[in-house]
Amino acid sequence: MKTIAVYPGSFDPPTFGHLDIIERSSRVFSRVIVSVAKNLTKDTMFTPMERVTMLRKLIRPFPNVEVDSFRGLLVEYVRIVDAHVVVRGLRAISDFEYEFQMAHMNKKLSPDVDTVFMMTGERYSYISSQIAKEIARFGGKIDDLVPPLVRDSMVRKLGGKR
Ligand code: ADP
Repeated sequence: MKTIAVYPGSFDPPTFGHLDIIERSSRVFSRVIVSVAKNLTKDTMFTPMERVTMLRKLIRPFPNVEVDSFRGLLVEYVRIVDAHVVVRGLRAISDFEYEFQMAHMNKKLSPDVDTVFMMTGERYSYISSQIAKEIARFGGKIDDLVPPLVRDSMVRKLGGKR
């Protein structure tokens, strides 16, 4: 049976934590669609297209992974791409409450879609896009948080200040 999974998120920017979830999902599911959510009201550092472009470069080692973007209801998008699984990562208890609520809501909206949670890799538990952005803005070292191509894009966005 072919299982298509969607890994949705803001990915603003993609971090080693996201990549770990992508790599592990690629071993569990036949096809993984990493999809950038475009409808968030959040203030973002990168445009959806910039995030898609970075992710496309990062997923090159994984032949069964592709990158897309979506706007609107996640469950609606999941149905359109014919997937039945949503992958989300869990770092700490603090992630749990929101994820629990979303998973239940999505189940209610679309009963044939299941959310599968992957526990963060131990080395990545403290990494978030938010933290990477904050450290970068203050000129700190982000090499342990994001891949080199993301680091370079962040430095460029911030006007070369490091
Ligand atoms: P969102 O705005 O949808 O939460 P994010 O880009 O912040 O988007 O995260 C996308 C998904 O990746 C979420 O499920 C989040 O919990 C997970 N994630 C983010 N960072 C990590 C990490 N370091 N380890 C494991 N999962 C992570």
